[in-house]
Amino acid sequence: MNHVCNFSPGPSMLPLPVLEQAQKELVCYGDSGMSVMEMSHRGKPYLAIYEETERRLRDLMEIPDSYAVLFLQGGATEQFSAVPLNLMQSGKADYIDSGNFAHLAAAEAARYLAVSTVASSRDDNYTYIPDWQGKLNADADYLHITTNNTIYGTRYTALPDSGSVSLVADMSSNILSEVYDVTKFGVIYAGAQKNIGPAGLGVVIVRKDLFGHASKLCPKLMNWEKQAENQSMINTPNTYGIYMAGLCFGWLQGLGGVKAMEKVNIDKARLLYDCIDDSKLFTSPAKKEYRSRMNVTFVTGDAETDDAFVKEASKAGLVNLKGHRSVGGMRASIYNAMPVEGVEALVAFMKQFEAARR
Ligand SMILES: *Cc1c(COP(=O)(O)O)cnc(C)c1O
Repeated sequence: MNHVCNFSPGPSMLPLPVLEQAQKELVCYGDSGMSVMEMSHRGKPYLAIYEETERRLRDLMEIPDSYAVLFLQGGATEQFSAVPLNLMQSGKADYIDSGNFAHLAAAEAARYLAVSTVASSRDDNYTYIPDWQGKLNADADYLHITTNNTIYGTRYTALPDSGSVSLVADMSSNILSEVYDVTKFGVIYAGAQKNIGPAGLGVVIVRKDLFGHASKLCPKLMNWEKQAENQSMINTPNTYGIYMAGLCFGWLQGLGGVKAMEKVNIDKARLLYDCIDDSKLFTSPAKKEYRSRMNVTFVTGDAETDDAFVKEASKAGLVNLKGHRSVGGMRASIYNAMPVEGVEALVAFMKQFEAARR
């Protein structure tokens, strides 16, 4: 069977060279005589993998030593709870409600502290990033944002200036896809299964001066400070997931890093949005100025035609294009691992589909 173009929102495509390298090393890693999956997480060979993985991420994102980098289990959703539990001081936090995951993050935080939803685009089905100007609370413990809204296909084009209030970002669906200045954030977190590696892993980047405020209720495994003291190994970490993330980081370094990838991503997104804008059949529900470069949503306006598109595309080897039920239509997730050729194939298919219906 041929390798298909997988537009899944997550778990999503992994770079083919990474899969091939993992395959080569699957049974026997280096001269260790065993698979990475069989290694002790406390042994030298594995610690070398862990440390190299962290080094690569630090290099890719230019993460200063004043930040800890953690590789935890529980994905992004676990961090919805860990964020309030680690940053609790006044017991108040601001959330910008820009999509489904932003909404879930706020709902989870509200179990532990007083959440102010300072801006929301929920009433317009999250077609844009809501305006936060003049609405932020200076006494909040942190301000939480979701830099890219995976389901609705929108992204922040500018970051809120939260002053002395720490900016906390769920970057699950656009981490490593564009250049961010890490020092603008108190905390960055992401589930791995979009732009980092396979599922089962969450990455947390946290400024160390934020340590020391964890709630007494904060479970040990969610306590960032304790995890940082233990190289994310209070208990057995997702050893293979971390190894795979390291391979993906190495692959990205080889391509020139995040800056080079950002250029490719801009080109990929432009190809697809140009096709949508030139089309008389497809439109994108996301407002133009907030269009995501990672998740491109589009609809025909007719549910049957949408269904036919998804089915026929799948037959042509372009799979997982069905949109989330809350938006309908189609969504093409074009993370770092999606090659330009995959997007070109989708654009060609869209043109052909439209021509056949004229
Ligand atoms: C996918 C996603 C999540 C959920 O990630 P899990 O790792 O499954 O918990 C959260 N936030 C955003 C922005 C996402 O794209």
